[in-house]
Amino acid sequence: MSLPEVPPADDVTTGWWDATREHRLMVQECTQCGHLQHPPRAVCTACSSMDHLELRETAGTGEVDACTVIHRAPRPDVDVPYTVARVRLTEGPLILTRLVDGDQWAIGDQVNVGWTDLPDGRALPVFH
Ligand SMILES: [Zn+2]
Repeated sequence: MSLPEVPPADDVTTGWWDATREHRLMVQECTQCGHLQHPPRAVCTACSSMDHLELRETAGTGEVDACTVIHRAPRPDVDVPYTVARVRLTEGPLILTRLVDGDQWAIGDQVNVGWTDLPDGRALPVFH
């Protein structure tokens, strides 16, 4: 699989990216209202708190919520086809990702996280 372009970590996402170095998939938890969200943000989307957001490790399991197969490469160096999906994590939040190991995916398929290591030590979560 060719590597997608990945943005650098910033103040909000550094902790999340650091966990990927250990292949741990995190979501953000608001300790004020209990809301879980992904990707990491500076504010809780449920109660607007900016001071109660922590990272919480997930089980790395979920269910395919939506998926599509990309046949036309966005860049010449990207291998096609590949499957882009929205996965509903067992903990609740949605994550945009790729599905690997085959191309016969359906909504509702149970999936587990796997990792694509990046040259800088970070890793991207994919699901199989
Ligand atoms: Zn909240």
